[in-house]
Order: sequence, then structure tokens, then C-alpha cells
Amino acid sequence: MASKTGARKNTIFYIAILAGCFVVGVGGGLTPIGKRIDNLGYDVLTNYASAISAASLKTSAVVVAIDEETLRKQHGMRNVRQILAGALDQLKEAGPRVVAIDVLLADPTEEADDARLGASLLATRKLILPCELIGNKWEDPLPLFKGSAPLGHVHLDDPENSVDGVNRQIPLEKKGGGNRRWALSLEAFSAFKGQPIVESTSDANLQIGSTVIPEPLEMSGRPMWVRYLPEGTIPKISVLEIANNRERIHDSVVFLGITALSAAHDRLTNSYDVSVPGVEVHAQAFETMELGHFMMRAHSVYVLIICVAFTIAAGLIFVFVPGWWAYGVDVLLLAAAFWIPLQAFRQDIVFPFFAPISVAWLASASAATFQYFFVRRQLRTSESEKSRYQQAIHWVAHEMRTPLTAIQGSSEIMTRYKLPEEKGKQLSEMINSESKRLARMIQTFLDVERLADGQIELKKESFAAGDVVEACLKRVRPIAERKSIQIFLDTPVKAELTGDRELMEYAFYNLLTNAVKYSPAETEIHVGSELLNGELRLSVRDQGIGMDAQELKSIFKKFYRTKKAEASGEVGTGIGLSIVEQIVTHHHGRMEVASEPGKGSCFTIIVSASNPKVPPAAENPADSHNAETFNR
Ligand code: ADP
Repeated sequence: MASKTGARKNTIFYIAILAGCFVVGVGGGLTPIGKRIDNLGYDVLTNYASAISAASLKTSAVVVAIDEETLRKQHGMRNVRQILAGALDQLKEAGPRVVAIDVLLADPTEEADDARLGASLLATRKLILPCELIGNKWEDPLPLFKGSAPLGHVHLDDPENSVDGVNRQIPLEKKGGGNRRWALSLEAFSAFKGQPIVESTSDANLQIGSTVIPEPLEMSGRPMWVRYLPEGTIPKISVLEIANNRERIHDSVVFLGITALSAAHDRLTNSYDVSVPGVEVHAQAFETMELGHFMMRAHSVYVLIICVAFTIAAGLIFVFVPGWWAYGVDVLLLAAAFWIPLQAFRQDIVFPFFAPISVAWLASASAATFQYFFVRRQLRTSESEKSRYQQAIHWVAHEMRTPLTAIQGSSEIMTRYKLPEEKGKQLSEMINSESKRLARMIQTFLDVERLADGQIELKKESFAAGDVVEACLKRVRPIAERKSIQIFLDTPVKAELTGDRELMEYAFYNLLTNAVKYSPAETEIHVGSELLNGELRLSVRDQGIGMDAQELKSIFKKFYRTKKAEASGEVGTGIGLSIVEQIVTHHHGRMEVASEPGKGSCFTIIVSASNPKVPPAAENPADSHNAETFNR
């Protein structure tokens, strides 16, 4: 029963530890550090995959850049409208399929400049113009520029609030001022395909011709993961170089914007850790759509299920897989924790790294540690149980030898010799009493063991302490006689005890036999008793070898014997006093010992008691006056 409760406690503790690992792992994935690690994993994978796919790629997008050189040669930013107008005019010659402009045209400048740009814009085929939401108001291009060109917003803020300042997603839609605008890159893609942007009615997917942009989960703003292609994959042509690159520009989608470090205020760091101007981010987003490389974030329910599965698997591995095999199998589990995000990525799913990997590691480490210590503790317990058992057997064998020898000897004499009737009766009485003693001893031993184990409850019978003392004195008399030791009952024992008579008798008898064992011949033993405030103090005082203070501290420990006791030649196991103490404690009592080396010891049992129910009929005058001698 006790061990069952222990096992249940262990199991609950084990489950609690594993649950803790799960919570820490999953919770950690929500912290900035966890998110950074997830991002790091994503960046490594995306860079690796994009680098491979970009190797032989001819992109449809081209960035036409107002770079440092352009600004230097064409009078700086104040002349930007003229620069744009010039660029558009030149682009017309090259014949791009779409031109998307990433320079806001919301404020009027020099009238002549604006008029010239307006004319160039109107003359441009398939033009996409930028707009920006400031507060709740859209900053659209001046009506002079706008014409019928569709507007695309130029916001690049990562809708998931990137914790590391790296841009990985852009919002495909932006709502404000009663209007919803698609991203510049999406509008450019729609114009490139010659297909409208259609919102699916059955789900939240977007459809442009045959291209389906999947619905982003749990997020507003329709974030789209930009699969950044390595630097240089999308050609970047300076405005000054348009004429030399007509062929490359022809039929492409031109993203025209500022790349000069001094003037481009919308630079971002991409997942290659490279700073890129906004116009290039639009071009990259366009290429993601064109290549159809759409990523989806794994649904958090699946992430949780995987984490739970890892936790349970780690827990079970260290319970059911034996020995070192458990570590081997666990390595597979840890490998799976890395493999799942990789495999998911191949299916264009962004699966977090931190939560499953940390859950798998934490759960594995905790399960392994727990099982290691648990198994060790079990081993220790079983070893100590084994040694206790061996010692108990040793004790039983030793204690039984005396009555058995007496029984054996007596029966042998009876069979070998023809004895007078009187002697025969004496011997058979002795056999009878010794075998009863043997049975009692076995019972006592078993009772104390079971009591200690909590298997049985103490008996609650009422008995006279005087009877116990009398019975013990009678039994110890022959042993004391051999050493000519006199035993005196200094005061008659008048008290009623409640508990187990057999056990109390065992305890008191043990004190008496010890007193005899550890006293030299021709000494005295005094038994005293006192009933005070509901407590009986029953003492056995001898004039024996005694013990020093240090030895006194250990005498109730199992199997402890003093050096003097060992040297005395008296046989002993050092278990008797520990049983005595257990018995007294089970009776809610306590032991007191006073001793002085070479002078003697006094052992006192203190237990709660009451006045005797029936007063002794006739008191022995010897009892009441001085002493009763049992060893005559
Ligand atoms: P055992 O007598 O079998 O050795 P016990 O548990 O009864 O075991 O006693 C433990 C030890 O306490 C003894 O070995 C002895 O050293 C010491 N001891 C017990 N009773 C006495 C006593 N009356 N006088 C001196 N030493 C004692």
C-alpha cells in the first residue's frame, strides 16, 4: 500500500516535470528570444533554398534606380520629378510590360516640373502609382499625375512586428480612410498578368489569374512572406543606364524608385541581413508572387500537438526503453524535432524551431535525469531492504538457537535414557515452555516488523504492568542465576497499561536480559516503578559495564554494539534495543537511559498508564517493604 502511494507520487511528479518542460518550451517560443531563434532558422532555410532556386533564374522584375550617381549628375533630390520624367521617357523606348513607381507624388512642386512629369506619366503604359496611409488618410498622387493608373500602397512594415528589425513579410492589404489598397507589388503583379485581384468567396485566398496567394492564418493585413532572392538576382539598373539596358527592361516589370543611401528613407534589412531600399523590397515581393513561392505559418494547434507529442514521447522513452537504448531512441526524437521544421519548410510551411526543439530537449533531459535518480533510489531501497532482511534472518537464527538447543537437548535425554517420572515431567514441561517462548519470539519479531512497515496496527488491550514485570522476572531468573546476579523489585508495579501486552513484555524482558548480559557476576539488578501524572516509569538499573555519552547516542540504532559489549564475550546482534524503542514509541512512550562506564546503567521505559483497576488482593510484605529477590 505504502509503496503504491509512493509510486503514484513519483508518477505524478514525473508528469508534472514533463508538463513544466512543455510549458517552458512553448512559453519560451513566445518570448523575443524564442522568436529570434525561429526567425534565424527561417532565414537560414530561406536563404539556402532561395540561393538554389535563384542560380538559373531570370526574373521578370527589374529595379530602375535613382542612385547616388543619378542624383549627383542630375541636381539631387530637389530635381527628382525631372529625373522621374526623364526616366519614364527613356523606359518608354525600352518597352517594359509594367512600370511601378515607388516615389510618393502627393505634394506639388515647381509647376513646370510637375507638368512635365504628368505628361510622362500619362504616356506610360500599365503604370502603378504609390500611395501611403498617414494616420487615417491616404496620401495619393496629385490628380495631375494620377490619371487612371491603379494605386498600390508602399507600406513595408512587418505585420508580425519583427523582433529583430528584419523584414520577412509585407502587408498585401492596407485599410484606412474608408479605403482598402493592395500593395504596390501586388498591383504590379496583377498588371503583369493582366488579371484582376480576386478575393475568393469560399476562403480568404487571393487569386490573380492562375496564381493563388493563400490566406494568412490568424493575421490581419494579409501578410505575405517575401522569399528574398540573393543580392543581384533582380537586376538593378541606374536611371543613367536605361538606354544601355533596353533589352533587359523590355517586357519586364520595372520598379522605379530611389536607391541612393542619402535619399532612400525606406531602407530595410532583409533575411540575408542586407540593407535594401524599399523599391527593391517591392520587386522581391513581386518575384515571390511570380515564382509562386508562398509560405504559410504553421497553425499553432499543430505546433502545440507536435510539442505535446514530443513531451509524451520523451517521457515514455525513459520509462519503457531499457538502459542505454533509451538514449539512442531519444536521439531520434531530438533529430525529429529538427527534422519537422525542415520538412515543413519544404512544404512551404513556416514551422517554429524554438518550441518543438526546446520541448524535446527539456523533456528528454528531465526525463533522463528523473529516471536516472529514480532508478538509483529504487536500487538503494532494494539494497537496504535486502540487507535489513539478511540482518533480520541473522537475528532470528541467533535468538532462536537458545530455546531450540534446550528443546533439542531435553528431547534427546528423554529418548536416550530411561528417566524417573519426576525428571521426565520436568523435561517435557521445559520443552513445552521453551517451544511456547520460541513461538512468542517469532510472533514478536513479526509484529514489530509489521508495525514498522505500517502493515498492522497496535493492539489496544488493557493489562496490568505488574503482570508483565512478574512474567519477565520469572523468565530471566534462571539466566541471572548462572551469574549469581540478584534481581530486586524495589517497588511493586501498580499500573494499568493500554496496548500490546506481548510487545511490552518483549521490551521489558530485553532490558532485563541486557542488564544480566552486561553485568559482572555477583552484582545486583534493581527494578523500579513509579506512577506519576498518568505516566509509568519502569526502570532496570544494573551495576554492569556501563556506557559513555558517545556510545549512549547510538545504542538504539539497529545492529549497534559498544566495543565493551563486543569484548565482553556476550552474544548479541545489537537489534534488541532498537525493537524496544520501536515498541515503546508505538505505545506513545519514550525511553530514558543513564549510564556511566564501569558503574552501571539504568534504562527507563516511560509510558502513559492509569491506576490498576483491581487492586492486588494481598500484598507481599517483602514487596511493600524492601525488595523481592528472584534469583534464589
Ligand atoms: P545486543 O544486546 O544484542 O548487542 P541490544 O540492542 O539489546 O543488542 O543492545 C545494543 C547495545 O547496547 C549492546 O550491544 C550494548 O553495547 C549496549 N547495552 C545495552 N544494554 C546495556 C546495559 N545494560 N549495559 C551496558 N550496555 C548495554
